[in-house]
Amino acid sequence: MQDDEALTAARALLQRAPVFDGHNDLPWVIRQDKAARGDVRAYDLTRVHERGDTDIPRLREGHVGAQFWAAFQPTSAPHPARTTLELIDVIHRIEAAHPDVFLPARGAADFERARRAGKIASYIVIEGGVGLENSLAPLRVWHAAGARMLIPCHNETLDWVDSATDAPRNGGFNAFGRAVIAEANRLGMIVDGAHLSHDAIRKLLDVSDAPILISHSNAFTLCDHPRNAPDDVLRRLKDNGGVVMATFVPGFVSQPLRDWLKRSRDGYGKAPLASDPKAQLAELEARQGPAPRATLAEVADHIDYLVKTAGVDHVGIGSDFFGGPQPQGLEHVGRFPYLFAELLKRGHSERDLAKISSRNVLRVMRKVEEIGEVLCEAREPAIGRLEDYPGP
Ligand SMILES: [Zn+2]
Repeated sequence: MQDDEALTAARALLQRAPVFDGHNDLPWVIRQDKAARGDVRAYDLTRVHERGDTDIPRLREGHVGAQFWAAFQPTSAPHPARTTLELIDVIHRIEAAHPDVFLPARGAADFERARRAGKIASYIVIEGGVGLENSLAPLRVWHAAGARMLIPCHNETLDWVDSATDAPRNGGFNAFGRAVIAEANRLGMIVDGAHLSHDAIRKLLDVSDAPILISHSNAFTLCDHPRNAPDDVLRRLKDNGGVVMATFVPGFVSQPLRDWLKRSRDGYGKAPLASDPKAQLAELEARQGPAPRATLAEVADHIDYLVKTAGVDHVGIGSDFFGGPQPQGLEHVGRFPYLFAELLKRGHSERDLAKISSRNVLRVMRKVEEIGEVLCEAREPAIGRLEDYPGP
């Protein structure tokens, strides 16, 4: 298949089965933007942001049909409970500022409603359970505010859950951490294994009543960053019914880049906090030569591997566009068709690619909702805080 032929076929495919992207940090980008400072209208999503990666024209160009927007904060941010609410509010304001573009999506059925209306389904994921401040109640408030997925932690281990990029303290999840999973299951909120230590994902698979997503992680075998999922976890997704969503974060894509970065990272793959990441990169390049660039083809390699190992029913896409560097060929949200064109050229069927673009993640969301309804009948809301759940 020729390049342009594949691209035309990919666009036609994504017209029918638009991309449900598992992760995008635009809300944080808008909050941190020096001019907009959290003002969605001032940021102006209707124009192309050449220096950014996400805006309405390019979401349209990329055939994005649904987006999990991250209500993300770094673990170290002050006032974590307040900050989570502020980020949820940014997403609500994105939806409110562009009602002709975004459909506030709170369940799997909203994907099809949005598609029929020619809109993008806007879903909320909480990235970082640090905002719970060790209490279960905020989880229900987040759900009431529309959040439908929880990433228990970010790059740091919390009092109840172990991060992929920090020292473990909880055997994956301790008793309170398991109560968070159970309450999310009851609410019909997806629990997301991205950012969890490998043992924490295994524990999540042991105890979750519902399928999971791993919303922005690749295959550990192809790139040995601890944020990527090991083979045993990938294989267990078959029984769990869950989905791993391939990500574009260059350091999780390319082993040569991962090796290049290793010298500047701690044992968990985490960079020391830099006040000026650009200057830090320039300094590294002065010492080590130019950084290898991750590529679209390497992302496709991960997808091939994930399909081979987890099965085609258990793979999706979670770009993690975050306003930073991206692989060559996948610089912004308008580039999804190029990835699908590459996958078509590699022999994936259109039927399989429709599963990867959106059908698999929708199946997970429907199942999580169904299980939540049953659990809501069966049990009362779990109340309490960390200290009410002693023991490992
Ligand atoms: Zn993340």
